[in-house]
Amino acid sequence: SNDYRVVVFGAGGVGKSSLVLRFIKGTFRESYIPTIEDTYRQVISCNKNICTLQITDTTGSHQFPAMQRLSISKGHAFILVYSVCSKQSLEELRPIWELIKELKGDVNSIPVMLVGNKCDESTELREVSQMEGQAQATTWGISFMETSAKTNHNVTELFQELLNMEKTR
Ligand code: GDP
Ligand code: MG
Repeated sequence: SNDYRVVVFGAGGVGKSSLVLRFIKGTFRESYIPTIEDTYRQVISCNKNICTLQITDTTGSHQFPAMQRLSISKGHAFILVYSVCSKQSLEELRPIWELIKELKGDVNSIPVMLVGNKCDESTELREVSQMEGQAQATTWGISFMETSAKTNHNVTELFQELLNMEKTR
């Protein structure tokens, strides 16, 4: 089908909903956005065709394991988000990455992006350097990017890059 399903994972508070809303609606809110599990659809052009980009914003660690498995099974591409202000949030991505590998098998053919969000925050608040984020992505064999939903840094690029990875696989 012409559906391209992207699933966004990450601990609570790292900015998953903010990234998705920034991309879909071009807005940003300073307050926490309570999330059930939302899917947003956007019609885009890909491979000279019209596709529906379907982005699922998960509830992070509150997601039931069965839901997590279902999201992974249905997903074509994955965004693993941590906050550069929380080393813990990067560590919390490990089990979800393990589960993606387990369920998808050959992960080399699947677009996966590790995203360090909140890169606008001051250096005093930073717990994960860009180099550390990049090193983790290299270890896992996936792509890496730092973003800011607040300043709109690399947000369009993030989704564009995932689409490009899909085309070239
Ligand atoms: P989620 O639980 O991962 O969906 O996180 P939210 O999108 O609800 O964001 C949690 C909090 O982080 C909110 O207060 C947001 O305003 C804030 N936030 C999200 N993205 C950014 C960012 O890029 N920079 C900064 N400074 N704050 C952000
Ligand atoms: Mg959310």
